[in-house]
Amino acid sequence: MVIGSGPNGLSAAIELAAAGLEVTVHEAAAEIGGGARTGELTLPGFKHDICSAVHPLGFASPCFERYPLAEHGLEWIHPEIPLAHPLDDGSAVVLDRSIDTTCAKLGPDGEAWRRLFEPLVAAWPRLRHDVLAPPLHLPRAPFAFARFGRDAIRSARALAESRFQGDRARALFAGIAAHSAMPLETRPSAAIGLVLAIAGHATGWPFPLGGAQRISKALAAHLQACGGQIRTGSRIETLPEADLVICDITPRQLLALAADRLPKRYRLMLAKYRYGPGVFKLDWALDAPIPWRAEVCRKAGTLHLGGTLAEIAEWESGHEGPAPFVILSQPSIFDFTRAPLSKHTAWAYCHVPNGSPVDRAEAIESQVERFAPGFRARILERHVMTPGALEIHNPNLVGGDLNGGAMDLAQFRLRSTRLRYRTPLDGVYLCSSSSPPGGGVHGMCGYHAARAALRQG
Ligand SMILES: Cc1cc2nc3c(=O)[nH]c(=O)nc-3n(C[C@H](O)[C@H](O)[C@H](O)COP(=O)(O)OP(=O)(O)OC[C@H]3O[C@@H](n4cnc5c(N)ncnc54)[C@H](O)[C@@H]3O)c2cc1C
Repeated sequence: MVIGSGPNGLSAAIELAAAGLEVTVHEAAAEIGGGARTGELTLPGFKHDICSAVHPLGFASPCFERYPLAEHGLEWIHPEIPLAHPLDDGSAVVLDRSIDTTCAKLGPDGEAWRRLFEPLVAAWPRLRHDVLAPPLHLPRAPFAFARFGRDAIRSARALAESRFQGDRARALFAGIAAHSAMPLETRPSAAIGLVLAIAGHATGWPFPLGGAQRISKALAAHLQACGGQIRTGSRIETLPEADLVICDITPRQLLALAADRLPKRYRLMLAKYRYGPGVFKLDWALDAPIPWRAEVCRKAGTLHLGGTLAEIAEWESGHEGPAPFVILSQPSIFDFTRAPLSKHTAWAYCHVPNGSPVDRAEAIESQVERFAPGFRARILERHVMTPGALEIHNPNLVGGDLNGGAMDLAQFRLRSTRLRYRTPLDGVYLCSSSSPPGGGVHGMCGYHAARAALRQG
């Protein structure tokens, strides 16, 4: 049995079904997909990704690539430019697929960017297996993984300030590293910055035609083709006595389902598990594309809005003040199925303190307006999700935490060791993004958990 139909639950179920086991996935919600679902949140005909929207790790995932997802309707769309980061002088720095094009906009730091990324991008076809595996494993790309590890273990701020001299490259790297949801002074916040930048150059930051739900639907169709079953509207309230139970849930939920059966030490460890910041999310139905001041932003799938490294670092260190760091995606520019003819959608969020009820809609819209004057006039409708609303949508988003737990070094060690799939209960495994390799729609936690269970027999 698998509890939860997020990308990790579905990939775990696929591995078990492909190995000949009878598998049923129980999903509490009415729809499958967990963090990869799409819905008409604002107006009829406007399709919004409710959680994940942009999928560099889904596209690069070694397990998704093993499944025939294209045969089940998954089609990836690559925006012309993966990421743009507008600045107050009206220009923008970009993470382009081409390292040359990226470096050209970074002035004297262009060469430093190239030195940092070129060898890692070249190694990405093998390196991605190492990055998306539990940290302690026999690496496929040992030299590149060691090189990556040397920088990944640092804080994003230390890495950016030691490698780059100018504001432009520092801002670009800071925005990418802020996906870690960690203060940029905290280790290993550089890791996510490196992974996402390497993936951006090597394979892009694409999204599925029609929205994130298409990933879930394709995974579910492949699972069913392998003989697995899915039951929606089936919330598991206590840990069942099945031979094998794989849990796509976070430590707090495992504790609630199984407290009376877990040994005391493990229970205490689960109880002490820390969650990271929440997110405050906005979706818009728009009358026209966002009127970015920097022309190049109109060609980018993802935008980072927050100005300089110092500004981004300030927001990420306490999530206070009027100017949040905003991650925004504009899928309808590239995918005409997302909105009625000539209309558009946009998706954005910022990190906020875990569970915070404070309304950040105005602050997020002001950040968009800063780089796209006239944006507000194009809004037809908005949909707001506080951390609390996100947790109601999906109980894995504890306090709105999108990474399944804090990612700092102490907890990273815990996630890589004692939360590494096996639990003290025979046949019970954890496979959510709280286990390695962590957050994102890539299914690799589920893949590794199922492999561990199959090895165990
Ligand atoms: C706002 C937001 C934006 C994001 N953006 C991105 C992005 O752009 N790209 C990206 O790669 N990632 C993104 N993420 C992160 C991504 O969605 C998650 O990392 C990913 O979905 C984790 O997958 P999972 O399978 O571990 O868990 P989830 O996808 O959370 O799935 C867990 C499932 O288990 C179900 N469940 C929980 N308890 C029970 C129970 N007791 N019984 C039955 N079912 C249960 C839940 O209903 C849910 O369906 C975002 C997340 C959020 C919230």
